Amino acid sequence: MEQHQAADNHYLLLTPGPLTTSDTVKQTMLKDWCTWDNDYKEIVQEIRQSLLQITGLDQTYTSVLMQGSGTFSVESVIGSVLPPDGKLLILTNGAYGDRIVKIATHLRIDHTVYQRTENEIHSTEQLDLLLQEDPAISHVVVVHCETTTGILNPIEQFAPVVKQHGKTFIVDAMSSLGGIPIDIKGLQIDFIISSANKCIQGVPGFGFVLAKKEALEECKTYARSLSLDLYDQWAAMEQDPGKWRYTSPTHVVRAFRQALWELIEEGGIEARYQRYKENHRILVQGMNALGFQCLVDEENQSPIITSFVNPSASVYNFQQFYNLLKEKGFVIYPGKVSYADTFRIGNIGHVFPEDMERLVSSIRASMFWK
Ligand SMILES: *Cc1c(COP(=O)(O)O)cnc(C)c1O
Repeated sequence: MEQHQAADNHYLLLTPGPLTTSDTVKQTMLKDWCTWDNDYKEIVQEIRQSLLQITGLDQTYTSVLMQGSGTFSVESVIGSVLPPDGKLLILTNGAYGDRIVKIATHLRIDHTVYQRTENEIHSTEQLDLLLQEDPAISHVVVVHCETTTGILNPIEQFAPVVKQHGKTFIVDAMSSLGGIPIDIKGLQIDFIISSANKCIQGVPGFGFVLAKKEALEECKTYARSLSLDLYDQWAAMEQDPGKWRYTSPTHVVRAFRQALWELIEEGGIEARYQRYKENHRILVQGMNALGFQCLVDEENQSPIITSFVNPSASVYNFQQFYNLLKEKGFVIYPGKVSYADTFRIGNIGHVFPEDMERLVSSIRASMFWK
């Protein structure tokens, strides 16, 4: 595997989604594809099968690809899997959980929210109590890695509680699936959502849902939207194997297959997880040595994206810092936390430990306020 960002790439994206992709992923997009031709449909089928394989799922699960950015796939699940009289419990501790609340509101889906602040984890006792007190709740949804802060929500603790109460469990694993091992079958997750341009390291253009087949089979006629009807999209892909209902992002799909091959070649999700953890370790150690504090406690921190508290020095200015780093070939993320002044650095994508070393050196050299 070539270890470096392309010489012709203007900067490394340390913004998780879209992120830096390999040259070989980018190169696959130089061909045009016919959407109903067998060669193309076989690529789609290979992707659908491969997604189950890399996540350790058998044929009791299925995968559905959906056009649009990741949010479209989240909206597709929320809008397609709750029956008309269903009720959704939303656990949120960040902007992406809050977005699910917005989706439920827009779709006029009955819901209730268990909110925590952005650096706090939900309590399983409280979750248990909420489910006991409100038997109308039929579905529970939580974000795995809250990309707002980088906090990793303990879905392995929530799942048994949700399942004890016999509820359908939905996980937004947009920024973790492919980069952190998740025991989807063991946790009995019914629907788990991610997209092409996160840890699988493809380019943006579609999302995907891994679904327990028997849970998805129940959802015929529930959809509140035509184009985002998850059941219908799945049924079409099954009936005419690999055929999307409407125009699919062909170049993106082709690039995604290459990205999946490269994930497998790297050694699968566990190997990628180790690389991301090493990237993260170098980043945090280096930043701490420079005096930057992390927002989230280490025990709840994901190896995907990290929030750092902005220096309080009166001459510090994020935009100026950002520009200096961009000149050196790194693009970082502003903060998204409501109560704290932060910035974020992602370490996923075609990014390696030596890139993180270079980043830390560049940050040291860019600290104009010191
Ligand atoms: C990236 C992301 C999404 C989807 O965002 P889009 O901009 O629509 O791709 C949803 N949830 C989480 C946790 C994410 O990280």
